[in-house]
Amino acid sequence: MARAAVPNGPGVLDRGLAAVGFDLDYTLWDQDAFFATFFEAASAEFGRRLGCGPRRFREVGAGALARLTPAHPALFDRVLHQLGAWDPRLVAELVDRFHRHRPPAVPYPGVEGLLGRLRQAGFRLFLVTDGHPAVQRHKLAALGLGAWFDPAVFTAELPGRPAKPSPAPFRAACAILGLAPERCLYVGDNPACDFQGARSLGMVTAQVPTGPFAGRDAAEDARAHLRLDSLGQLAGLLATAEVGP
Ligand SMILES: [Mg+2]
Repeated sequence: MARAAVPNGPGVLDRGLAAVGFDLDYTLWDQDAFFATFFEAASAEFGRRLGCGPRRFREVGAGALARLTPAHPALFDRVLHQLGAWDPRLVAELVDRFHRHRPPAVPYPGVEGLLGRLRQAGFRLFLVTDGHPAVQRHKLAALGLGAWFDPAVFTAELPGRPAKPSPAPFRAACAILGLAPERCLYVGDNPACDFQGARSLGMVTAQVPTGPFAGRDAAEDARAHLRLDSLGQLAGLLATAEVGP
């Protein structure tokens, strides 16, 4: 059963939900692979140019990922510092290369089945994701999930680029759906950004225990209403929810 993160947690499902929204990275797929393949793909060239060899470049990249998490804004700076090769032009080059990185990707097991069940039950499905829009669009396409979501909101494409936890991208999703926030549930992994903005509008929120952020606690107002044991648990929880028009 879902653990209620707040009193009356499960009761929040009894309000005529009509749409289920998702975060992308670590909620629907393991983004670690994406970064690991980047360091792998760049290792031959940068190992040679930096004089450290491809294996050392890969190992330092993997270590920085494990220590800092992929979302760390200075990830490439730290890697280059550790290799004794920090140079702002090299950082910019790595960032640019990363934005053009196009590896294959697969969703977590069961994701497409879950989306199918929710759609069959009458829920509309939407996505709200931060990050570089071209990269996020590539991930969505590579994962084969693009067709499930309408809308897919890329926060960096909205006026002012309001990243989560801003409520603005959730408000934008509701406007496109033509639904009040109270009729929507949003699922994410990161307590630092996935829930506060959605909750402040009145959305129901649920946290999945995947990704590097899931074990972290959050301030009470930033927590999700529900903490799921797995993403698949959502289908059972919503099976009895009344789907509104
Ligand atoms: Mg995430």
